[in-house]
Formats: sequence, C-alpha cells, structure tokens
Amino acid sequence: MKLPLQAQYAALPDRFFAAQPPKPVAAPDLLFLNAPLAESLGLDPAALRSPEGIDILAGNAVAEGTRPLAQVYSGHQFGNFSPQLGDGRALLLGEVEAEGKTYDIQLKGSGPTPFSRNGDGRAGLGPVLREYIMSEAMQALGVPTTRALAAVTTGERVQRETALPGAILTRVARSHIRVGTFQFFAARQDTEALQILTDFAITRHYPEATDALDLLRAVVQAQAELIAHWMTIGFVHGVMNTDNCAVSGETIDYGPAAFLDTYHPNMVFSSIDRNGRYAFGQQPNIAAWNLAQLATALLPLMGEREAAIEAATEAVNGFGPALETAWLARYRAKLGLTSQQEGDVDLITSLLRMMAEGQADFTNTFRALGTAKARDQFVIPTAFDAWNAKWQGRLAAEGPAEDLLPRLHAANPAIIPRTHRIEQAITAATAGDLTPAKRLIIALETPFEATDPDLARPPSDEERITRTFCG
Ligand code: AMP
Ligand code: MG
Ligand code: MG
Repeated sequence: MKLPLQAQYAALPDRFFAAQPPKPVAAPDLLFLNAPLAESLGLDPAALRSPEGIDILAGNAVAEGTRPLAQVYSGHQFGNFSPQLGDGRALLLGEVEAEGKTYDIQLKGSGPTPFSRNGDGRAGLGPVLREYIMSEAMQALGVPTTRALAAVTTGERVQRETALPGAILTRVARSHIRVGTFQFFAARQDTEALQILTDFAITRHYPEATDALDLLRAVVQAQAELIAHWMTIGFVHGVMNTDNCAVSGETIDYGPAAFLDTYHPNMVFSSIDRNGRYAFGQQPNIAAWNLAQLATALLPLMGEREAAIEAATEAVNGFGPALETAWLARYRAKLGLTSQQEGDVDLITSLLRMMAEGQADFTNTFRALGTAKARDQFVIPTAFDAWNAKWQGRLAAEGPAEDLLPRLHAANPAIIPRTHRIEQAITAATAGDLTPAKRLIIALETPFEATDPDLARPPSDEERITRTFCG
C-alpha cells in the first residue's frame, strides 16, 4: 500500500535520526480511526481501515516508499540534562502536506529503537487511549496540539506494573522538533547541525523568521499563547521536560496529563512529580525555563557571544508579558468581557483565589457563570455573592445582557476529559468494551455544548483520581 508521504526529515543528515523499521506485532486490530482527520490530511479512511492499512498503523508493514526513522534529541528531565534521549518508542513515517501545511505522521509504541535504553519500545492500551482522547479533546477546545489519527491494539502484552494489552498510536504533529532536539546538537557543539535544524524549523513553522534569534522569538510567542491557553482551561501537562516542549507551540506528550476538577494552583497529578515542579500554577515558570534552554542552545548561531546573550535574554524575557496578554484576553472572554478595564486582573485573580479556597470545580464554575448555579460550586455559596455583585457591575459596561450567556458558553467548555472518565474508559477498553471511550470521544468533539451532562459531573470522592502515570 502507498501513502502520500514525503521524506523531509529523512533528507536531513544521518546524525539527525536512526533509520529503524517498526517491529511487527502478533495480531493487529483497529480500535479507533479518526476519519475526519484522515480526510483533512488527504489520506483515505477506507484504505487505512483495510487490512493493509491496519498493518501499516500497527507496524506490520511499511508503506511503500517510506523509510521510518527514530529522531534524536536530548533534554532536561525534571531539571537534569540527559544528553541522549531520542525516540525510544516512536517512529516518524514521513510527512503529509495539507492546506499548505506540513504534518508528521508518527507511530508511537511501534517497537524498540537505538534510543530505547531499557525501555521495550511499546505502549499500553491505557496511555494510547488517554492520548487519543485528550489530544482530540484539546483540538476541539481550540488548543494547539498533536493529533490522534488512529489507535490499534497489538494482540501482545506490555509489562508495566502488571501485564497490560499493548497498543500503538498514530500521532500527527506539525513537527516533532523539541527544545531537546536543539539541545542535542548544542551539547555536541555541532553548530552545523544546529544551523540545519534552525533552517528546517523556520521553514516548517515560522517562514517569516530569518535567523536563530527570530526563531527563538517566534517560539517564545507560540509557547506563551499555548501555556496561557492551558492555564485558562485547567490543563496540567505533568511532564514539561524540554524534550516534551515542541517548538511548533503544540501540546505534545500526554503521559500523565490531567485536567483540574477542583481548582488549586498547587495541583499535581503525575506520580513521578514528587516536588511539584510541574504543578498547575508552575507551568508558566517552567515554560520560561525551557525557553531559556532553547536560547542557550541557539547562542552559537547568534554571533558575538556577549551581544547574543543580551538579545537571547531579551527574547526569553518577552515570555512573561506575552503570556500575561494572552492569559488576560482568554480570562476576559471567560468572564464575558469584550472591553478592557484596569480592574480586570483583580476581578479574575480574586475569583481564582476564591475558587481555590472554596474548592470549586474549575470547569463547572466558569460554565455556570451568569446562572444561579455558579454559587453552588463553592463550599460556602455566600462567599461567591460579593464577587458576583462586582462582576455584574463590571458587565454593565458591556453590551446587551441577552448576548452574555452565549458569549460565556462559547468561552467556557461544558465538557472536558475528566481523569476519572478516562480511567473508566481505559478499564472498560481493557476488558474489551469500547463504549465508554466512544462516548467520551463523541461528547468531546463539541466540548462547548452540554450534549452529555453526566460527563460534566465532577468525580465523587470514590471516583476521584489523584495520581496519573506515564506508561
Ligand atoms: P517521556 O517521559 O514520555 O517524554 O519519555 C522520555 C523518553 O523515554 C523518550 O525518549 C521516550 O522515547 C522514552 N521512552 C518512554 N517510554 C519508553 C518505552 N516504553 N520504551 C522505550 N523508550 C521509552
Ligand atoms: Mg516525551
Ligand atoms: Mg511520554
């Protein structure tokens, strides 16, 4: 079978990747195929669903004319530099062009590569389903993200804490170039490769940029907008290592990712994030730290060192103001504000503070604004009343009141992929029942419509999941 794939990354010098065929699996079976995404990429859903198509999605066949490869990269993991990471369980099949943009098609969980270290190169059904559901939900929420084209089971088991069904995700991304990709070549003082990578990233993502400093500025802006988006929908990435920071500005790697139920800036879900480095409220600081690592890696391309450091520092310092601007614009929209006033930041932060104190559900509080249900989200409902009066006063400066609710509902989702729902879907899928996963996927296609109100319900104490795992 032939796929209309290009070999752009494969045309880079050999030291950018290791050519590696996928390792065939025992019994491939298609779980989900994202037909609308396939079509938008110019791929034929029927062909991908055929036995030959499934063989490609499972790594049992290599599409004609493609040369799968594992990309090299390094990265700071929890602040410590690992000079050699690279795709340990993912293979880039090639690129497709659609509507003037280029997209990577990658298999994740397709077997060992030269960068697997002690890993098995495989993925479990749970993490594959989680990434499928969450990344597609993020897309529908309007957040830049990698996408999920397909999920297949392998008919094999992967050994984690217990033996779990194995699965492979077909991931689509504007690229898989990470801050860690730049760090890989910087650590080896391979300035020639750094320049090639810079040119590649500019062509792919920021064609208006002309040099490394421009690229840095563009990535700073893209990351600021991305993190602002996360902060206004209650998304906790969980493992913001520099190898999980895409220069495209897309959310990548949903290992331990989770959405807040109850709001608190200190919320941490990932079982391995013991010190809360990647807590919800830390995400802006960490993104800025990651961008400083990108700046450091790019310095050799920026000319005379003192001047380069000054320019790069200024570029990274642009992150705070850019985040603030994007954050404020998104929160104003969440409060139904179309005009700008001095006191808006206070209005937003005082609501958030009250939500933390009142153990309010993040999504449901914002969704209920403008209705009598908002105050019920707080442990002590009267705590909300004074803030509400202030907000009502502020709304007087806005347009006609009848436009308010539609405006609020367009900015505040009704349904998010709640962790306990994902876990329920994974448990059922592991037992062979895809109904809960399908239900979630369908409801999350239109997250701003309350199509399935039971999915908007926060977890009960028994249902609540406080820890997530990479797998
Ligand atoms: P992550 O924490 O998911 O960003 O992964 C960090 C690094 O570990 C990446 O280079 C992955 O490719 C690699 N890795 C994660 N899981 C496995 C696995 N099961 N087998 C081989 N490599 C893995
Ligand atoms: Mg990763
Ligand atoms: Mg991961």
